[in-house]
Amino acid sequence: MDLLQISNNLQKNLEALHPYTSTPGAGTTRLPFTTEARSAVDAIRGMMEETGLSVREDEAGNIMGTLKGEDPSLASLVIGSHFDTVSNGGNFDGLAGIMTGIEVARLIKESGVTLKRNLVIAGFHDEEGMRFGTGYFGSKALLGQVSQEDLHSYKDRNDISIYDAMKTYGLVPENLPKAAWDIKKIRAYIEMHIEQGPVLYQSHEEIGLVECIVGIQRYIITVQGRSDHAGTTPMDMRIDAMETAAQVIAKLPAWAREIGEGTVATTGFIKATPGGMNIVAGEVQFSVDVRSRNNGIINEIIEKIRWELDEACKKNGASFTMENKLTISPVELNRNMLFTLEQHCKDRGYSFRRMASGAGHDALAIGHVLDTVMVFVPSKDGRSHCPEEWTEYRDIAKSVVIIYDLIRDMQVV
Ligand SMILES: [Zn+2]
Repeated sequence: MDLLQISNNLQKNLEALHPYTSTPGAGTTRLPFTTEARSAVDAIRGMMEETGLSVREDEAGNIMGTLKGEDPSLASLVIGSHFDTVSNGGNFDGLAGIMTGIEVARLIKESGVTLKRNLVIAGFHDEEGMRFGTGYFGSKALLGQVSQEDLHSYKDRNDISIYDAMKTYGLVPENLPKAAWDIKKIRAYIEMHIEQGPVLYQSHEEIGLVECIVGIQRYIITVQGRSDHAGTTPMDMRIDAMETAAQVIAKLPAWAREIGEGTVATTGFIKATPGGMNIVAGEVQFSVDVRSRNNGIINEIIEKIRWELDEACKKNGASFTMENKLTISPVELNRNMLFTLEQHCKDRGYSFRRMASGAGHDALAIGHVLDTVMVFVPSKDGRSHCPEEWTEYRDIAKSVVIIYDLIRDMQVV
């Protein structure tokens, strides 16, 4: 297997997409249903056609290239990822997975292997949810999980709905249901993604075999106290919303550490009102983001937060509300495919580790419904969602090789 040739092809294809950003010189910004997204899709279409795939843009704006197998009645194998980015993001998040799929298809064609099953390379639209606050739009459309109502209710900061954005982009929103597949027609979904964290890079391992994608629960918590003069109100006569909030915020990281098993808990946002240095905080709003591969652990931490807030409020007379912003269950990825990939890593002499994914991906949406597996490659310094995001092309090439091996194995009916 010519790793150098694969690396060069990946580099050429990934670099060809560099111009399609709305923030040149400040990272890649390719939001869904924009001219940048259109240009990217056109470029990917060209690459797929050059590789000999038959290409179709579906009704959600996903781009699908199919390498035909001998028996169209068999369920297809799908390799995919997304082509949209966050604002001022990098050049590898998502796109590296699509280019990996295209390279796998090229290798299969060039090696003269005849596929029994169709191999579909999917470029998904709007995985990040950056513009409309959605997430997994394209992959959910494939699963038939996006409603017409969703198209109207989700809007960007300029008050443009997905419905209107799709029309401007050249799609017919009413046709969205046609993007859904009969899931029996998909045998398995395979996604290569950059790790976006520091584990592989620091351990000098080449391949991450993702066993599960963690579940997430997100809340906005509002503690209601009473604003008072910071100097004249004695400590035992105030209802300090900050004191109550701070008790939870301070304990949260320790709870996650105690439970372990890779559980993470974060308060990344806090806002005190009225927000004066000499005023007791009348209201404090803060966020909580808890992730774990075990749903029970997430629920346990959320309950601890509720209990802690309850106790604190009983003491000082404050009150609180917890607004759920996101709940996603963890998903276990397919053991058989993981085992096969592990064997191929060993055969090819690539170092690897089994790991969890702390970020969601198209594989999270799809993995709840279909046999799914994910492969990670190292992110330099663990950086991602920033212009510095970098992965060695040679590392991506190794993922191409083992996924190629997997696709060949999965031709056995
Ligand atoms: Zn991504």
